[in-house]
Amino acid sequence: MTSIELAADVVQWCRRLAACSETPGETRRPFLSPPMREVHEALAGWMRRLGMDVRIDAAGNLRGVYAAAGSAPGAAAGRRLFIGSHLDTVPNAGAFDGVLGVVLGIALVEHLRGRRLPFAIEVVGFSDEEGVRFGVPFIGSRALTGLLDDAVLACRDLGGRTVEDAIRDFGLDPARIPDAAAPDGSLGYLEFHIEQGPILENLNLPLAVVDAVAGQTRADVWFTGQAGHAGTTPMTLRRDGLAGAAVWIAEVEREAIHTSGLVATVGRVAVEPGAANVIPGRCELSLDVRHAADDVRTDAVGRLRRAAEDIASRRGLAAAWQPRLEQPSVRLDAELSSLLARALETAGFRAHRMTSGAGHDAMIVAGRMPAGMVFLRCAGGISHHPAESVREDDVAAALEAGLGFLNALERSHG
Ligand SMILES: [Zn+2]
Repeated sequence: MTSIELAADVVQWCRRLAACSETPGETRRPFLSPPMREVHEALAGWMRRLGMDVRIDAAGNLRGVYAAAGSAPGAAAGRRLFIGSHLDTVPNAGAFDGVLGVVLGIALVEHLRGRRLPFAIEVVGFSDEEGVRFGVPFIGSRALTGLLDDAVLACRDLGGRTVEDAIRDFGLDPARIPDAAAPDGSLGYLEFHIEQGPILENLNLPLAVVDAVAGQTRADVWFTGQAGHAGTTPMTLRRDGLAGAAVWIAEVEREAIHTSGLVATVGRVAVEPGAANVIPGRCELSLDVRHAADDVRTDAVGRLRRAAEDIASRRGLAAAWQPRLEQPSVRLDAELSSLLARALETAGFRAHRMTSGAGHDAMIVAGRMPAGMVFLRCAGGISHHPAESVREDDVAAALEAGLGFLNALERSHG
C-alpha cells in the first residue's frame, strides 16, 4: 500500500472507532467504559495481523509489541520505541483526538511491510488522558511512567466507583499496575496528535514538531465592592465589582497580546447578586495563563496580580487572589525533536516548530524517557467537537515522516 492508501485507511479506522461510544449518535468514551473494549478488540485484531504481541495492561492501556529483528515475539526487555496516544474521549468528541495517534502508530508498523528494526516498536493506546470520568487526567500514561499512585486509584467517578474499582470491573488486576511501567532503557516515545488549534492551517503546513508543552497558571480572582440600587446610587459613589473586573479583563488581554507566545484567558465570570437593577457588589473570575517559558509566564502573572490590586484600590474595591494550578512547562527531547524535524524535511515538508498550549500524554511520558511529538493540521483548528477533521494527504505526510524517523533511528541504533 502507498502512504496515501494507508492514510485513507487510517482516517476510515478513526471514523469507524468513533462509533464505539457510551452515547448512541455521538462519541463519548471515558476511561474503561464498555465501548473501550470494542476499540481494544478492533485494534488488537489489526495489530495481531501485523505480527504484534498484544495485551491490555492493568491500567487498561492497549499495548502491542512489534518485536525487534532477531528476537522471538514476546521476548521481554531490549530496546524499545513507544508510539502512542490516548483512546478515551471527551463527551460529544470528534473522531481524531488521541485515536489518530494510536491508529497512526499501527499504520506505521504496517508501512514497514514486515521489515524488522534493531529495536522493538510498542504501540500504546492510553486508557485515559482527558480525565473525564474521574476528574484526574493521564491515568494511562501515568501507569506507563510508573506514577499511577494510590491517591489516583482512590479517586471516585459520579457513580461512586474508584479508579481501582473501574479497573476490576473491566476484568483487570490493580495489583499488576507496576507491570504497566515501561522497562528501563526504553529508546523513547513518539506521539502523533491533531494540533487542536489553527496555527498549521494558517501556515498552510500539514505537520509540525512540538518543542515543548506550555506551562500553565490558573487562579481565581475576586473584585469586591458594594451592591446598591441601580437607580439611586450616583456613578461617583459606586463601588462596582463587575466594572473593576471588566477593566482588569481588558488588561489580561493587553498583557497577552504584548507578550510574545503568551496566551491568557478569563473563561468564567460570576456576578453577585446578578440582577439587572442592582450594582454588582462582587465579581469572581477565573484566569488561565500559558507559555513555553516558565519565567515569562510567572512574570506576566505577577503583573496581572498587581494590576488587579491597582484597579481595585483606584475604585475602592478589594481584590483577592486564589492560586489554583501552577504547572511548569515540559521540554520535549531535543535529539528526538531534531530527528523528527529532519524526517519532515526529508519527506518534503517544512519542519515548523511549535509549543503545545494543551497538555498531552507526551508531557507525562517525558518524565520517564525521551519524548517527541508531531502535530497534524486539523480543519478549522476545531477539536473536542464532532466536526474534528484531518486531511488524508496530511496523514500520508505523517506516515512518510514517521517512516523516515524510524529509518533514521535505525541508522543511529543499528
Ligand atoms: Zn488528545
